[in-house]
Amino acid sequence: MSSAKTVFITGSSTGIGKDTALYFIKKGWNVAATMRTPEKSTLGSDPKLIIPRLDVTDEKSIQSAWNETIAKFGAIDVVVNNAGFGLTGPFEGATQEQIKRQFDTNVFGLMSICKHAISLWRSKKHPGTLINVASVGGRVTFPYYSLYHSTKWAVEGFTESLQYEVAQFGIKVKIVEPGAIKTDFNDRSADVTDSNAPADYQGVLKVVRANLRKAVVNAIEPVEVAKVIFEAASSNSSQIRYKAGNDAKLLLAIRRIIPENLFYSIVRSQLFRGVNS
Ligand code: NAD
Repeated sequence: MSSAKTVFITGSSTGIGKDTALYFIKKGWNVAATMRTPEKSTLGSDPKLIIPRLDVTDEKSIQSAWNETIAKFGAIDVVVNNAGFGLTGPFEGATQEQIKRQFDTNVFGLMSICKHAISLWRSKKHPGTLINVASVGGRVTFPYYSLYHSTKWAVEGFTESLQYEVAQFGIKVKIVEPGAIKTDFNDRSADVTDSNAPADYQGVLKVVRANLRKAVVNAIEPVEVAKVIFEAASSNSSQIRYKAGNDAKLLLAIRRIIPENLFYSIVRSQLFRGVNS
């Protein structure tokens, strides 16, 4: 077994998770790059890399990926809860199945992995660092993102509270908050409620969707988030939140400084621009 540190990452097949896996390998870490279909991995091979099968909605696969990683590397030092997707569109158009899948993936799967990590680190007296990937959308909201936001706000509140109770075991807990990132998030990975929403929504929705697309044209590469995750993983500081991207930094600064109602009217003026014109 090597003396290098080990990171366990969920959702490593594409986007932020994939770039995070590659970045940690480059930095000499052992990497368990978990994903739902390892046979489709484009990560290549490396003596420091294993690719366990893990679906965050499948408890058995979590346990088996966890065991495989410990068997291979002896310990897990950092866990990155990255797997997630966005369910967007009018809330009224969402089926209960869609809502359940959104929470099963973004919240309950993440909680299950947190429990594995905390239990291991507490019982072995070998504390590690837990990094939950939330979003700038875990602290501000945009129209037609109510279900995605509710999962990321849940992750923010859960993680922020958790850090108090596990600090006594030396466990560090971090939240990474990306802004707009160039990944499959808004395309292949997205789930939408639009077609099932009543006709009354469709006119405004079309305009807002177009404005939302314009708002993410300056999205940054996922490797930039990987660097922030690496910083959080390597830091000895007690910092909890790490923003990734200038848009995230700017938006959260504005949100902190100006009154709530002014913030909402700015969002409205930007994203509903063109409605009724
Ligand atoms: P992505 O779609 O490229 O990656 C998400 C990964 O999660 C995929 O590899 C997917 O296969 C995996 N995944 C989905 N459901 C899963 C499940 N049940 N079990 C295991 N893996 C599953 O998108 P991304 O942008 O890289 O997203 C990564 C994280 O970053 C997500 O949590 C997302 O909410 C968050 N985020 C993304 C952005 C953005 O603009 N892209 C912004 C803020 C936060």
